[in-house]
Amino acid sequence: MTEFKKKKQYGQNFLTNVAIPRRIAAESGITSEDGVIEIGPGFGILTKELSAIANNVVAIEIDTELMSILPEKLSDCNNVKIINEDILKIDINDLLTNEFPNRNVCVCANLPYYITTDIVMKLLEGEYGFKTITVMVQKEVAERFCAKPGTDGYGAITASISYYASVKRLFTVKAGSFDPKPKVDSAVIRFDLYDHSPVNPLSKETLFAVIKAAFLQRRKTLLNSLNSYFGDKIPKEELLSIILNCGLKESVRGEELSIIDFSKLSDQIFEYIKK
Ligand code: SAM
Repeated sequence: MTEFKKKKQYGQNFLTNVAIPRRIAAESGITSEDGVIEIGPGFGILTKELSAIANNVVAIEIDTELMSILPEKLSDCNNVKIINEDILKIDINDLLTNEFPNRNVCVCANLPYYITTDIVMKLLEGEYGFKTITVMVQKEVAERFCAKPGTDGYGAITASISYYASVKRLFTVKAGSFDPKPKVDSAVIRFDLYDHSPVNPLSKETLFAVIKAAFLQRRKTLLNSLNSYFGDKIPKEELLSIILNCGLKESVRGEELSIIDFSKLSDQIFEYIKK
């Protein structure tokens, strides 16, 4: 057998210490009743741990070369199916219908870092009804995902995530736990998805547009940011009265707003534009 060459373009930093995937699986909230989607099984080190605790595991791996290696590595795991696909292209609804009928499904992964945000947003925005999503990401990204309003890491992504889920940082993993060793440490985080979002905006599209607008220019006040984005539809003095009506100060910045503030703001902007 020719030696496997790790592919940087696929973010292949493999875990080498079995204690880490064991802990990821243990803290993921997965039970023996649940189905699991794993993204990027690699050599199957996490897949084995998931197989031991879940009802069944479907592992999506982009690297065709791993298709001849994984079955052997997972020969003891008879509840695992491997699919050679790109997670960003696969139809998740089809996957849920075909592989997990009438079952709660969790996602678990040591994510390829080059597409972390794209994957997380695909899983959240699709509103697939996942129970939990437990992922290892770069430490700085974990800090951004978990940031609270008013802190440096808080941004459009954090605010958008808080519409779908609460996020908890579980533990840190040192760069030396991977082969090859990445430049930075990692952290494992868990998204507990809401059955019902804490907010119920009149228009979801407007809510996400307001969040995007508020963070386009971080140094600006919320009023100036909203004016740059919605200025052609709403006069600045109206935007100011909307901000004040929401109980916010004229000098407030987008990074200080919670998802509840954003939802109130977006409802008033939506009503104004609709008029
Ligand atoms: N789970 C293994 C571990 O913990 O050692 C491997 C994790 S490694 C950080 C990321 C894995 O995701 C690799 O196996 C890589 O080939 C795979 N991958 C990268 N891009 C992918 C994509 N778009 N869809 C599915 N898998 C992908």
